Amino acid sequence: MIRNGIGVSKGYAIGTAYRISGSDEINFCATSENTAMEEKRLREAVERSKLQVKRIAEGAQQNLDAKNAEIIESHLNFLEDPAFTGEAFKKIREDSLTAEKAISDVTQSLYEMFSEFEDEYTRDRAADIKDIGERILRNLLGKEEDINFKDLPQNTVLFAHDLKPSDTAQIDREKVVAFVTEKGGKTSHTAILAKALGIAAVVGCDGILHEVEDGMPVLVDGVSGQVIVSPDEATIQKYKSLQAEEKSRKEKYANFLNQRITTEEGRKVLVAANIGGLEDLKTALENGAEGVGLFRTEFLYMNRQTMPTEEEQFQVYRDAAQLLQGKPLTIRTLDIGGDKSLPYLKMQKESNPFLGLRAIRLCLKNQDIFRTQLRAILRASVYGNIQIMFPMIGSDEELKQAKEVLDRCKRELGEEGVNYDPHILTGMMIEVPSAAIMAADFAKNVNFFSIGTNDLTQYTLAVDRMNETISGLYNSMHPAVLRLIKMTIEAAHQAFIPCCMCGELASDEKAIPLLLQYGLDEFSVSPGALADTKVRLLKAIGN
Ligand code: PEP
Ligand code: MG
Repeated sequence: MIRNGIGVSKGYAIGTAYRISGSDEINFCATSENTAMEEKRLREAVERSKLQVKRIAEGAQQNLDAKNAEIIESHLNFLEDPAFTGEAFKKIREDSLTAEKAISDVTQSLYEMFSEFEDEYTRDRAADIKDIGERILRNLLGKEEDINFKDLPQNTVLFAHDLKPSDTAQIDREKVVAFVTEKGGKTSHTAILAKALGIAAVVGCDGILHEVEDGMPVLVDGVSGQVIVSPDEATIQKYKSLQAEEKSRKEKYANFLNQRITTEEGRKVLVAANIGGLEDLKTALENGAEGVGLFRTEFLYMNRQTMPTEEEQFQVYRDAAQLLQGKPLTIRTLDIGGDKSLPYLKMQKESNPFLGLRAIRLCLKNQDIFRTQLRAILRASVYGNIQIMFPMIGSDEELKQAKEVLDRCKRELGEEGVNYDPHILTGMMIEVPSAAIMAADFAKNVNFFSIGTNDLTQYTLAVDRMNETISGLYNSMHPAVLRLIKMTIEAAHQAFIPCCMCGELASDEKAIPLLLQYGLDEFSVSPGALADTKVRLLKAIGN
């Protein structure tokens, strides 16, 4: 059986299906006549949740710091709290609600109540309530406790309704050869992470969870977007030879990894990497990256219970700068919101998260988070060639405020006698149409631009980058998007600043000749796309 989705990460995989349930699949009835049964179900789900949390708490004492262990302990207390589970039992009895509806309602109202508190500590408990409420709900619905990415068998092909970027970041590429999701678009962060991992991936494969069972043999074609369940021998052989061709192409391309690109007019073009952490950086350097054009720092904040401290972040940025040995490291400040959330950061539910409190907007509203990160970057700046980049800037006021916070951090560090690079370069992403249109004005106030075509496309065309049903409309080569790109590069050059592109379009075969013609100075691409990009650039300049 063949199903079609959107191929988002090149490569072919042959493996065994493993289904994981996602929270988006949760559907349940609201009322029930059988109150006694609903009470029993809730009691059992609460008990199961307690056991799970106790298990995590035991592990936490060995592996996590005291603060994280304390948070997990507090989940146990919530499970016994009359105002939480007690209230849900009451709703079952008095309003004839199902256990699922009762626990969801109580979780939601407590979450909203805690979110309103002035005091930060109490406010932070809102995320704990949500976490524990979702755990009980998963137990009621018999869903997986947590996705355990560690104990998966070799050659696993993951099938999920959706994967969060934080889930994808935990995938072990030694075990997982591909993943397939029912939701998601070409430039969703989940898709981008699959590329960075170098595994095949197909998203937007509607209904696939009803077609596969655990243990079934499957083939994933990340190029065409086809998923073949229970393939026959001839198809397996065909894909084995495609895999062999891909391997030999990669070997051939390895010869180009260290090639530097110079255009006919003698203009040097940099080919850099987009990374999400030190592991990606190592792969990028092995693949000939000439620098990092985009460090998506939000991945440092994911899959943990608390914010990373200044010291923790400093160490990562310093290590990255040192690994790069003087090559540029562009660190983008936190881009949370949109499809990326943090379990421990209170965020209001928004109807349009991509148009909401995201990236720089969130940082300017939570300046303690922003300052912690900026201080860490500044402290690391003496260890290499670091530059700072602000995401999602849409107005000059936002840029001004971001730079003011940066200046304040510099001043504070100076007063504390801490070293930093006083000449650190500061740039901004051009990923909101207003920024592209006003690029000439912005260019006077930054040291570089980096065009984020993933967002620039969705915001220019009003096409959600995550929505598989309109993926046909998502086109970064749309004349409107191309015109904004051209305007941005021209504005940069008029102000004598360089222009990079770190969106997915930078490695696109059809776009590369055009981007070169526009005068793009730097192509920053996923580590796995470095060789392909260099070959395409060489071809475009006629080598
Ligand atoms: C972009 O929007 O093109 C970009 C590089 O940023 P992200 O994909 O992380 O939103
Ligand atoms: Mg973006």
